[in-house]
Amino acid sequence: MIFVDSHCHIDGEQFDADRDEVVQRAKDAGVAAMLNIGTGDPHGEDFRKAVEVADKYENVYTALGVHPHDAKLYDDKAENHLIELVKSSEKVIAWGEIGLDFYYDHSPREAQIDVFRRQIRTAKKLELPIIIHSRDADEDTVAILTEEFGATDADRSVRVPGIMHCFGGTPQMAEALMKLGFLISFAGNVTFKKAENLRNAAKIVPLDKLLIETDCPFLTPEPFRGKRNEPSMVVHTARFLAGVYGIPPEHLAAATTTNFLRFFNLDLNP
Ligand SMILES: [Zn+2]
Ligand SMILES: [Zn+2]
Repeated sequence: MIFVDSHCHIDGEQFDADRDEVVQRAKDAGVAAMLNIGTGDPHGEDFRKAVEVADKYENVYTALGVHPHDAKLYDDKAENHLIELVKSSEKVIAWGEIGLDFYYDHSPREAQIDVFRRQIRTAKKLELPIIIHSRDADEDTVAILTEEFGATDADRSVRVPGIMHCFGGTPQMAEALMKLGFLISFAGNVTFKKAENLRNAAKIVPLDKLLIETDCPFLTPEPFRGKRNEPSMVVHTARFLAGVYGIPPEHLAAATTTNFLRFFNLDLNP
């Protein structure tokens, strides 16, 4: 079986001590590709590190973008730095994670909304798909994405808009995003006992729109909840979700892997 972890943070300091082993363990577990997501201060060195990590390992790619937590740090200088990094490596395949987080409110909501829109337009210009983060802001997220991607054909400069990561919304939200062309990615929290709402949303996502992710080092799936998460653990989420769909794990693994590779137009290196 082969899997893809569509969203991980292996460039983070939590993996500085054993990143080689983490990547090897993922490979041994059948995780054939990983999309790292760079985050942090766009005026510092965090994003350069994300590119370095992707450049170092085969089948590890990265996205770059300013997280809603850090929206207040976004300005022209930050944007130019990110664009330069995007152009520096073929391993940068998406812009994100971007979006809205009204749960933590680490940046003022106005700034989050502004910077979300601005980064969508930059990603469109670069013809990069976007990775969306949305927490306690689903209505605004859907409204902005509908405006940016739903209006006219002329606006559809990005062939497939992107990925809704760590889906935590309602079935209606999943429907709306899929209509705009987004793929829906589920993380380890779908395995949590109380997450019946997530499982109900997952059930309406057809297999050809589905992705799986770890969002590591966070959201470790059952039965390892409490431990540090890492890409090899995406296998547990895949097995669990296959149960939700009532299909063999092989089918779910194959579908989610194919979706990812097709979406980004990638071939796996042996
Ligand atoms: Zn996120
Ligand atoms: Zn993330």
